[in-house]
Parts: sequence; structure tokens; C-alpha cells
Amino acid sequence: MKATLDRIVATSRTYTQNGTLANYIPELAKANPNALAICICDHTGNCTQAGDFNTAFTIQSVSKIVTLLYAFEAYGEDVFSRIGVEQTADAFNSIIKLETRNHGKPLNPLINAGAIATIAYIAEHEGKGTFRKLSTFLRKMAQNESIHVNQDVYASEKRTGDINRALAYFQKGVSSFSAPVEIVLDTYFQMCSLEVHVKDLARIAQVLANNGVLIESGERLFSEKTAMMTKSIMTTCGMYDSSGHFAVTVGIPSKSGVGGGILSVVPGQYGIGTLGPALDEKGNSAAGIELLSQLSNELHLSIFR
Ligand code: GLU
Repeated sequence: MKATLDRIVATSRTYTQNGTLANYIPELAKANPNALAICICDHTGNCTQAGDFNTAFTIQSVSKIVTLLYAFEAYGEDVFSRIGVEQTADAFNSIIKLETRNHGKPLNPLINAGAIATIAYIAEHEGKGTFRKLSTFLRKMAQNESIHVNQDVYASEKRTGDINRALAYFQKGVSSFSAPVEIVLDTYFQMCSLEVHVKDLARIAQVLANNGVLIESGERLFSEKTAMMTKSIMTTCGMYDSSGHFAVTVGIPSKSGVGGGILSVVPGQYGIGTLGPALDEKGNSAAGIELLSQLSNELHLSIFR
């Protein structure tokens, strides 16, 4: 596996030139655009890494998976009273469908409006402790107690997050949620600013691949049903408005973030984390997608095979 990963990192490296760093959150523009890394954890818990796996990055929208898992596990299908499961075909931070479709009910939990709605839903039940609970759950999945908020990115998000504020206040304005907006936004910004490595993403993904059970301890963190619903939504909505193309070319349930990370789940087999901060026009890691595409073709990982 190590030789395979080293080789595909080398052959994918030029694709880092095909993207640009996210700069609408100024702090993200400080990343190294040429970084490229992968970690893959198998069903025995053994993890193999290649490339720049020591590079830290913020988890960004990949955290939406953890928020969703927590909400499903704690509150079951009632979560669907507040968020849908349909693709938008719009950008991740678009507001348009909040007004034109299902008034005030976001189409899915993996776009910004939907993740904010999911956090609001959790906060209505759990109040101010929401970030602590979500981040504790994330650290547990990653089995890494040292994961923390990158304060510079958090401050940068908070300073420039007016579109997210608009999404939250619109929902509050049409009575879609009752939690205090600034607490909801703060929780969202902090979740996005958690600093991780590819191994953390791979470990989180491995718990999903293993349908909710931590391999090392045998502890169940969430139910099979929670895992199944989350993987389904990752397949249809996880790669922004190119989820359909990604399903066709890679075929692995995944979620990307504008920090350049992608978390991918090969059910029953692998948890995969990749990093490539240079993003394509949809906001997905350009070289990360190439890595996953090569890996999927070579190891026959598409779930549609
Ligand atoms: N913090 C980012 C934002 O809200 C997350 C977006 C993403 O990774 O897709 O804009």
C-alpha cells in the first residue's frame, strides 16, 4: 500500500497547479498550494500515509459530517424536519433556494445553510455546550485528543463570515430556528476551524466505514442506521455541486472542505483522508480528486462496481 500511495502522490502532484487557494477566508490563503497528502486506514486499523502528511489544515466543511452524525445519532430522523437530503446544484454558500424552495428549510446538511440549520437544531436541545459536545465527538472519532481550534482561522472566519451570517439570520427571520444566532454561528465557525491532519480524516472515515464502531476498542459511537444515512448523503451531496461527476469518476462517499481536505469512506474497507489546498472552480481539492480517482481505479474502490 505504501508504494502505491507514494506513486499516486507523485503522479497527482502536478494537479496542484490546476487549482487556487480559497481566499474569501483570508487566513486560508496562507496555505501551501503545492501540498499533497493521503492517509488510508484499513479494516484492521492499520494506517498508511504518503506525501505531506505532517501538514496541518483546517477541517472546514468536512466537519459537517461530524455535526450530521451527532444530530442523527442523538435525535434520529426528526432531523429531517429541519433539513432535506436533496442536491442543490448551487454553490456551497448559496442562499437562493432558502427562499425559493422549502421556505427556510435547507435542501441538505452538507451545504452551509444546512450545516447551520443542523447546529441550530442541536443547540436548541443542548444550549451553549454544543461546540464542546461536537468537538469532543470529533476527537473521539479521530482518536486524537490534541485536535484544537486554529484561532487565526477562526478569527478570520468570524471577521469575514457575512454570507454565513446572512444564511443564519434568514433562517432565524423565517422562524426556522429559535437558537441564538450568534451562538449557532460561533459554533459553526469553530467547527470549521478545527485543525487536523490527513490521518485524523482517515480515522474519522474509518469509523464510518466500520458502521459506527471504533476498531481498536470495539466501542460503538453511532448506529449502523446513522452511518448509512450519512454515507448516502455524502454520496449525493458531499462534493458540492460536482457530487454527480465525482460519483461517476471516483464513486466513493466523500466530503470536501475549502481547506483542501477530503474525507472518503469505502464501506467495510477503508477510511481515507486527503489534503491538497489548491481548489478547483467548485471548491474541491484539484489534486485531491485526482489522487482519489487514481486510487479508486487502481484498487477498484467505487461503491457502484
Ligand atoms: N468555513 C467555510 C465557510 O463557511 C466552510 C466552507 C467549506 O469548506 O465548504 O465558508
